[in-house]
Amino acid sequence: MTARIIDGRKIAQQIKDEVRLGVEKLRATAGIQPGLATVLVGDHPASQVYIRMKARACEEIGIRSTTILIEKNSSTEEVLRQIEQLNRDDQTDGILVQLPLPSHIDEGLLLQAVDPQKDVDGFHPVSLGNLLAGRECFVPCTPAGIMEILKKEGIPLKGKRAVMLGRSNIVGKPTAILLMHQHATVTICHSRTENLPRVTSEGDILVVAIGRPAMVTEEFVKPGAVVIDVGVNRLSDLAEIKRIFGDDPLRLAEHQKKGYTLVGDVHQARVQEVASALTPVPGGVGPMTIAMLLKNTLIAARRRRGDG
Ligand code: NDP
Repeated sequence: MTARIIDGRKIAQQIKDEVRLGVEKLRATAGIQPGLATVLVGDHPASQVYIRMKARACEEIGIRSTTILIEKNSSTEEVLRQIEQLNRDDQTDGILVQLPLPSHIDEGLLLQAVDPQKDVDGFHPVSLGNLLAGRECFVPCTPAGIMEILKKEGIPLKGKRAVMLGRSNIVGKPTAILLMHQHATVTICHSRTENLPRVTSEGDILVVAIGRPAMVTEEFVKPGAVVIDVGVNRLSDLAEIKRIFGDDPLRLAEHQKKGYTLVGDVHQARVQEVASALTPVPGGVGPMTIAMLLKNTLIAARRRRGDG
């Protein structure tokens, strides 16, 4: 079997087109332009790339985007003051605190400080509680993107076995809950799970979010399963690349050009032989995360202005 490769970029573009229409309508009917503010503490390089991508995506579809840059050594209280200011700002519909934060900052306090009505990342305890209870809420963007891919691809979930590999607060736990709400029978695995390949290969749907380059190979996958790869890892060690991918010319060429190759948590070439469908890296879940953030920002703008 050779798996169908799911085109996350195409699905993300459909979502962005829908959001663009929604933004235009809000502007035309209420004279409102939705606004997203991102709080970035320090200069984490991956965060800076991600923030630039978000700003570009916002611009493309007509959402006002601002980034509040806060000095790396600032205290939790200083960042809290900025968040409180954004909570009060009527031009700001969505607030996103960029993670990871420097280690001296109290992440929990910051996430709790965001007005739940503006919590477009869905990490506020109120949002997470509502998610658990199955009530309307802002769903964290990556899990929302995963569910949208499964929906748009027509993957049946009701009554199916779904395995979530990874139990982080931002990906694994919310995704497992969402799969359960869609009536899948869900197993959550993590670093202490015994006989991991045996457990993961029970899944008709296998979602992987572990941050371990290409760790999931064919023995982790049930023949015919749908595999969603959330991982984003930069591999720069040539020996490591050769250990995992042999002399794969595309990997070697990417390494030569950029100094690294971008790898998911799933070994695509090997898993492709057993799965029925899978998401690639790049071009799978990644583009969906930003698309769902834009969607959440539009929803926040409509709700705050009593228009939906
Ligand atoms: P975390 O590091 O927060 O969590 C990783 C999870 O994987 C933990 O539950 C951990 O188990 C588990 N794990 C780690 N190693 C193993 C192992 N060898 N066997 C089994 N389980 C293991 O990661 P995130 O959830 O934040 O991110 C996961 C990946 O997804 C990363 O590559 C990240 O870059 C990517 N990501 C991509 C996004 C996108 O938009 N595409 C968005 C967010 C993340 P334990 O709990 O026991 O420690």
